[in-house]
Amino acid sequence: MNIRVRYAPSPTGLQHVGGIRTALFNYLYARCNGGKFILRLEDTDRTRFDESYVKNLYDTFEWLGFKWDEGPVPDNEVEDRSFQSRGGLYSPYIQSERTVLYKKYAQELLDKGQAYYCFCSAQRIEEVRLQREAARSSQSGYDRFCRNIDPQEAAKRAASGEVCTVRLKIPLGETTLFNDHLLGGIEWKNDDVNPDPVLLKSDGFPTYHLANVVDDHLMEVTHVLRAQEWLASTPLHVIMYRAFGWTPPEFCHLPMVMGQDGKKLSKRHGATSIDEFRKQGYLPEALINYIALLGASYEEGKDVYTLGELAQHFSLEKLNKAPAVFDYKKLEWYNGLYIRMKSDEELAALCLPFAVEAGLIGKIGEEVLAEARRRRGRGEEEEEEGIGKRGEEEEEEEEGREGFAKFVGAMGLVRERLVLLGEVTEKIGYLFKEPEIPEAQEFIPKKCDLAKTIELLQTGMELVRRLAEMPDDEQAENFIKAEAEKREIKLGDLMMPLRVAITGSRVSPPLFGSLRLLGAECSAKRVQNALDMLNK
Ligand code: GLU
Repeated sequence: MNIRVRYAPSPTGLQHVGGIRTALFNYLYARCNGGKFILRLEDTDRTRFDESYVKNLYDTFEWLGFKWDEGPVPDNEVEDRSFQSRGGLYSPYIQSERTVLYKKYAQELLDKGQAYYCFCSAQRIEEVRLQREAARSSQSGYDRFCRNIDPQEAAKRAASGEVCTVRLKIPLGETTLFNDHLLGGIEWKNDDVNPDPVLLKSDGFPTYHLANVVDDHLMEVTHVLRAQEWLASTPLHVIMYRAFGWTPPEFCHLPMVMGQDGKKLSKRHGATSIDEFRKQGYLPEALINYIALLGASYEEGKDVYTLGELAQHFSLEKLNKAPAVFDYKKLEWYNGLYIRMKSDEELAALCLPFAVEAGLIGKIGEEVLAEARRRRGRGEEEEEEGIGKRGEEEEEEEEGREGFAKFVGAMGLVRERLVLLGEVTEKIGYLFKEPEIPEAQEFIPKKCDLAKTIELLQTGMELVRRLAEMPDDEQAENFIKAEAEKREIKLGDLMMPLRVAITGSRVSPPLFGSLRLLGAECSAKRVQNALDMLNK
């Protein structure tokens, strides 16, 4: 069987963990079977539609490296579409551009007597609801008022321009059965299904149900892997497949994603939109790896996978029925892990936007930026931007370029200590901006006093230039150890005030590497400033 799956988001919100887990599982299912992964925008709810959510979808796909395999128009034939060079070689399917099709299929159901025109106004529907509420009736949904209007009469009224919708005529008194890959056989009494839902709205747009079923059929989708919240709509969809005389795809409703408290994952638990994670400094590899484990288990004892490896291991048999619990700490662990796998250059390129935003380094020269972008896997065309700078700007870029070289060097100092890319600015800020000199108390090692600390720092002052010029940590360490021994001082006592003078804090990335990056002059100046302050 040629596996064909789809991710069919409605652009009514930002892409979040749950949606992207659905996208990922579909993507992996296509990849592991040599099938096709389709992206379809279900944008027929025009009241909740917002273009920025479409952009967010493309950005998220680009960032995660998801590519879709098919679409109505090859990418090079589409002008001015924001997904170009992003997720795929094709435009995705966009439902708002296919409305003619849905009308045609709604008509088909009308012709078959499986659907009917409804002329009820929103006001009448609301009145029915209020009456039922007052009577404490357990009935809900449409009261099927127009179900028995003579079809010819109804068609005439519709043709004359009377405002109407088209509703599905659910066969009453029957039961709908379908199989869910994960949940097994599911049985639903038709009388309990949402009564005769609207298929075509009065503005001619289809509802989710009609467009979704028609498209899954036309796109020959073989498997529908989607969130469990859609389970309740599935009997309705199966009824529609039968009404059309089509075979439904296989369904697999994915386990829910919960917060640690057992409630559905939401903003209350922390970040949920992929954009928020990106802004905080998560790596796409970490998110993909972690999200892939939400509701699935792969090989025993192994939980680190690249997207490519996941595509080899994935299968529906590896999905779990039980809800998945989102563990932010575990995600942080993955992020640290993937950060540690990066080279200095790669990590610097990833951390760069955070450093520039925090003002740690100036505007970067175009070439450096281009290189950084290349390493982040961005489109080449962005590298062309902003050519032809002069004067001040050039100077600023030169500064940025120098800053960037130092920034690359600093990665080795901070890599082991980073959980989120965004933390980089606070951890190595002292390398780019003079730190505030802390209070005297901070400089004083245990069992020492101020006078002794000043002596220690004076010794530090004698050594600091040599230390900064040592080619590596080992030589710097041997040198300072020998000096401490010779002067009969404890190594720790010598190092601590020096560290505070250089980094502004007792806790910092490695001191010798910091000194090397700052250079002899700058290091000596910081120690002198600290001494001046302590001597006041
Ligand atoms: N448009 C629906 C959504 O936003 C798609 C549900 C489905 O996959 O059938 O999630």
